[in-house]
Amino acid sequence: MSESKSKRSATRGGPRPRVSGVRQTGVHAGPRYGILGGTFDPPHLGHLALAQEAYTRMSLDRVWFLPAREPPHKPGRAISSAADRLAMLERAVASDVRFAVSTVELERPGPSYTVDTLAELRARWGAGVWMALIIGWDMLAYLPQWRDAAGVIARADQIVATHRPGAPAPEGEVARLEEQLPGLRAKLTVLPAPQLAVSGTEIRTRVAQMLPVRYLTPDAVATYIEMRALYSVVDQMARGERGGEQAGGVGG
Ligand code: ATP
Repeated sequence: MSESKSKRSATRGGPRPRVSGVRQTGVHAGPRYGILGGTFDPPHLGHLALAQEAYTRMSLDRVWFLPAREPPHKPGRAISSAADRLAMLERAVASDVRFAVSTVELERPGPSYTVDTLAELRARWGAGVWMALIIGWDMLAYLPQWRDAAGVIARADQIVATHRPGAPAPEGEVARLEEQLPGLRAKLTVLPAPQLAVSGTEIRTRVAQMLPVRYLTPDAVATYIEMRALYSVVDQMARGERGGEQAGGVGG
């Protein structure tokens, strides 16, 4: 696959508490990968903390960050260019061997439906790889609207979700989701991850208001944003004028 960087092996820092499950044998004798898709406009500490928590608690061998070419759940929103989002993501994970970037969604034309991505990753990685889809609660709540949500559940070996500040998680929500998507609960792990109230939206807003974003995103990303004048008022006007990379369609 066209991962944007290759890494030899993940560092293991002592015993890793597991949320559930045992290391797979047989059909899943290969590596355990986490898959964290998103717009990453820009990537921030919320993404990295979520990936780290999944890596540790799910005993993953690597977490792959997948920037979406066209995020189906953000229709009509102008987003930064794929090149800028990829460059920021590469800088965000560069110093951490547990993480890597995959360009599989950027290479595929059209909306980046997760069901297609999982099928493509399975074809590239083979049956031996164990794949955990990592998502924040806002995305989990929206799962019934994803393109072929049943196919997503069938293709992922595990769905790892975490609560997120600002994303309501009403009691009984998992039961309601299970009613709409039978089989979800059996594959769902809810991670007790750190609650960092940071989002791409907040960072873009802060930059436009000329407020600092250091400590909300890795320094290398903050520097890139500044260097490219991303999210500045001028950039926002330019993106509005040219429409950015308009997302379309429905479903994640
Ligand atoms: P935006 O504000 O631009 O809509 P975002 O910050 O929500 O973006 P995305 O790139 O859309 O980021 O998110 C990718 C994935 O990371 C989603 O599953 C999302 O729920 C999750 N995520 C993003 N921020 C956080 C956070 N602070 N805590 C936990 N999960 C997060």
